[in-house]
Amino acid sequence: GFRRAGRLDGIELSEIVQISERAAQLRAQGLDVIALSTGEPDFPTPPHVVEAAHKAALDGQTRYPATAGTPALRSAIAEQAGVEPAQVIVSTGAKQVLAGAFLATLDSSDEVITTAPFWTSYADMVKLAGGVPVVLDCPREQGFKLTPEQLDAAITPRTRWLLLNTPSNPTGAVYTESELRALGDVLEQHPQVWVISDEIYQHLAYVPFTPFVQAVPALADRTLTVNGVSKAYSMTGWRIGWGIGPAPLIKAMAAVQGQITSGACSIAQAAALAALAGPQNLLAERREAMRARRDLVVASLNAAGLDCAVPDGAFYVFPRTPAAMPSDPEFCRHLLDHAGVAVVPGRAFGMLGHFRLSFAYDTDSLTQGLRRIADAAAKL
Ligand code: PLP
Repeated sequence: GFRRAGRLDGIELSEIVQISERAAQLRAQGLDVIALSTGEPDFPTPPHVVEAAHKAALDGQTRYPATAGTPALRSAIAEQAGVEPAQVIVSTGAKQVLAGAFLATLDSSDEVITTAPFWTSYADMVKLAGGVPVVLDCPREQGFKLTPEQLDAAITPRTRWLLLNTPSNPTGAVYTESELRALGDVLEQHPQVWVISDEIYQHLAYVPFTPFVQAVPALADRTLTVNGVSKAYSMTGWRIGWGIGPAPLIKAMAAVQGQITSGACSIAQAAALAALAGPQNLLAERREAMRARRDLVVASLNAAGLDCAVPDGAFYVFPRTPAAMPSDPEFCRHLLDHAGVAVVPGRAFGMLGHFRLSFAYDTDSLTQGLRRIADAAAKL
């Protein structure tokens, strides 16, 4: 019969995907379900980006692209970041950048420090690459952020990476410049530890945003910055992300990519280039639209007695589950089956007693969904 590889032990289809699929199933049965579970902006990809893709396809940009990215896109990213193109790799989404970095660097039992709550895929990616995730609990009381003391205590001779995410999925936490510097001070004492800063929500920050390398330039020669067009330009389906880091790391990641997927889709890279080169005013417009939704969502949840912090970035809130039903998977199941709203349990992000609601939806869905949640919570 069928036998799974040992490296898949404990690894399943992400709980976020499972919930979204169940919501779609219930809807197909004719039930009225509002999904507030998915991490993608509801805005369309900008038309000039779609046109650039169309043109690229008609112009014959339809052959295997260079493994680490088309020269045009790599150069545009490098120029924006003030680095050399050899320090840039373009991959099939930010997801592949992360996976490639772990596959290129982790030997068996190497450790990757990350924080809980974390984006669902982090721990599983590290395990797939043979590494060991070391997850540090960063509860609401500390703003869902890692402290220098926690970091210092967790570093061992086997630590290869600190994996940071700012702004964070699922909490929206954004590290200030001085918080990043304080973490950098710890890392300066431990030259074996490199940093991945996942900044995919950079353009969705409601407070000043500081990239890790800008706060801690002394560590630039061991920092990989991850970014992409998915969230900022509403291009989740185009699958273009990139990593910016030291050339030898990028070269190793390109070697991995070359054996697994080759270069990312040539047409999608032309589209991403158009997004970077085109008008940027849409970033602020969309951010402000998200901010208004954030304010609506935070106010409604707190009014319903669900304790919800104000996220400084991204498009998620991570409120506590009601005291009457503290188990987050049970609460989320209850909301889906009895109130017709899909949200994701904190368990999927490594922190119990919370749930994640995405506000990357139109105001009507949000208002209705929040009313249903409030009604359900009141009846518990
Ligand atoms: N990093 C974080 C923190 C995310 O939330 C996501 C998507 O949900 C990604 C990376 C993946 O981005 P991409 O769609 O470009 O692979």
